Amino acid sequence: THFGYQEVPLNEKQHKVADVFHSVAQKYDIMNDLMSGGIHRLWKRFTIEMSGVRPGHQILDLAGGTGDLTALFAPKVGPNGRVVLADINDSMLKVGRDRMIDRGIMNNVDYSLVNAECLPFADNTFDCITIAFGLRNVTNKQKALNSMFRTLKPGGRLLVLEFSKPIYPWLSKIYDHYSFNLIPKFGQWVTGDEESYRYLAESIRMHPGQEELKQMFATAGFEDSEYHNLTGGVVALHRGFKY
Ligand code: SAM
Repeated sequence: THFGYQEVPLNEKQHKVADVFHSVAQKYDIMNDLMSGGIHRLWKRFTIEMSGVRPGHQILDLAGGTGDLTALFAPKVGPNGRVVLADINDSMLKVGRDRMIDRGIMNNVDYSLVNAECLPFADNTFDCITIAFGLRNVTNKQKALNSMFRTLKPGGRLLVLEFSKPIYPWLSKIYDHYSFNLIPKFGQWVTGDEESYRYLAESIRMHPGQEELKQMFATAGFEDSEYHNLTGGVVALHRGFKY
């Protein structure tokens, strides 16, 4: 296992995102369980189901953070496959690496410090790329999607799991209250960092909705794109293929 290192200049938004995740890395996993009531585990399992992963596959878990998806993928790709846990933030990546080692997941996982906007991998490398709760943090999302398209093999697929737009007005209201008022408070209690969790709520609000993201998939070159609303559209899983 190694940290591939890519020298990338960061702009202001990227610095802010970096600060947020340096600050929360150690408490990141417990916060996810708290904020989602554990439901993020189901969203992630669904993502694995839709990935079509097989033994021998090459998988990129982009913006993979502490490695929830990597831990689910690694046993499925087996000894002849490989999962690359890639993130722009070395604090998150270190927590992820320690977790994998603690769980005995070691022989088929690599670690890579990357910016999703300019992936340092050859064309046609991966059978599957996932980016879970990561795309909304990326400054130039279209550029990132283009880069994912380039590095997928023909026949490969991209899965984007991300907060989206609730499909019922009543759910929208509850959700707004929850994310703007309660999540920053949780953040304050657990991590002592209210500001980072305020950023989280804002970044969710700014993220493109279901149809807009589907359009961005098409612009990047993906075909047969579709999305599944999870938990009433609070989260959506988008999937597209490179042919
Ligand atoms: N995928 C994990 C999960 O679902 O638990 C982690 C998601 S976490 C909310 C978002 C991650 O995106 C952070 O670890 C952050 O460092 C990473 N990230 C933000 N901008 C990025 C970029 N431009 N390229 C790669 N990773 C990025």
